[in-house]
Amino acid sequence: MTLADEKRREALSLYIHIPFCLKKCSYCDFLSAPQDEETRERYVRALIREIRSRKNWAEETGRHVDTIFLGGGTPSVLAADQISRIMEAVHVSFDVGKDAEISMELNPGTADQEKLRAFRQAGINRLSMGVQSLQDQELRLLGRIHNTGQAKEAFLMARKAGFDNVNIDLMSALPGQTFSSWADTLTGICAWEPEHISAYSLIMEPGTEFAALQDAGKLPSLPDEDTDREMYRYTEDYLAGHGYRHYEISNYAKPGRECRHNCGYWTGHPYLGLGIGAASYVDGARFSNIADLKTYLSYLEPADEEALSGEKMTDLPGSESPPGSTAWLEGICTDRHVLTEEEKIEEFMFLGLRMCGGIEKEDFERRFPGRALKDIYGKVIHKHLAQGVMEETEKGFRLTKRGIDISNYILADYLL
Ligand code: SF4
Repeated sequence: MTLADEKRREALSLYIHIPFCLKKCSYCDFLSAPQDEETRERYVRALIREIRSRKNWAEETGRHVDTIFLGGGTPSVLAADQISRIMEAVHVSFDVGKDAEISMELNPGTADQEKLRAFRQAGINRLSMGVQSLQDQELRLLGRIHNTGQAKEAFLMARKAGFDNVNIDLMSALPGQTFSSWADTLTGICAWEPEHISAYSLIMEPGTEFAALQDAGKLPSLPDEDTDREMYRYTEDYLAGHGYRHYEISNYAKPGRECRHNCGYWTGHPYLGLGIGAASYVDGARFSNIADLKTYLSYLEPADEEALSGEKMTDLPGSESPPGSTAWLEGICTDRHVLTEEEKIEEFMFLGLRMCGGIEKEDFERRFPGRALKDIYGKVIHKHLAQGVMEETEKGFRLTKRGIDISNYILADYLL
């Protein structure tokens, strides 16, 4: 690890959850739902209160923030003024680096020029657009609120508003999707020249509308495994030919445009989650905020409206305590778990091997002094090298293309 990496490890990422959408998509099991304007405003106020309650801790620990991600849900469903107020609270409470990457998810169906300009002015410097497909028929089936024309328009508006760092989310292996419709989507997106593309295969989540339709035999059939693999390989080759580096199983970026926030998740960087259901990893402990909106509001809404502004914001019970401490847990945090060294080692391997560069032996030894990679995983690595699913790099190991194809099985071997 370089000195720059060491410094980065002292920093903190923030994840801010906005649990609202205009309409639930057919495949989605994220913590999100349509809500009226009043509820959205109450949530924004509560969220601001939570953010400001962490000010003391952020100051005492001297952590600076190097990446922020506003996800959901659909953060862009909020009014520009609400996003500005949230960002203002973040800047009041945390020491945000001048070159911090500040991303926000944007649903193309909620974009307008004025809003995008205001988001940029509020300090958002990277957009992640949920385009998913450039086939209207596929978008309708997914239950998305936008069509392909609106997606392109939103992208152009984002450029006009000054966003020079944009990710496009795409989904493959959709019901009824053919290889050629996927190839057309990729061609169309590359012509836009976004800086980053995330391409995920659909996962059929239990409890979604898609799962119910599939159970009832009413969903067009999914591409078979071979077509899915063919799409994946084509994506890699096609995007490489258009200047995108494949840097994580599902992520591709132009040089230097990798998502710093997500790279942090994959390399054990600490992060603090704010808002309902948001997960955190701080000082070796994982914990989550409660996922229930009503309980979150009841805990964070003050008895008197006056307290919504001013210094009383930091009067939240447990606000002087470090995240994950008992006092905080009694409030909105749940499921606190301090990772054992074995769990940290597993995560290092699991997440590191998702990155196309793989893991480095020296990095392992620096993080786990006194432990040697070969003593813990020697046999497994030997097996994977012999099977051709893993290969040696100058500094460590990474999965081969064949290994990435069956990464779920391979990574399971790294459980201790
Ligand atoms: S917009 Fe995103 S979060 Fe909202 S329902 Fe659709 S997939 Fe889920």
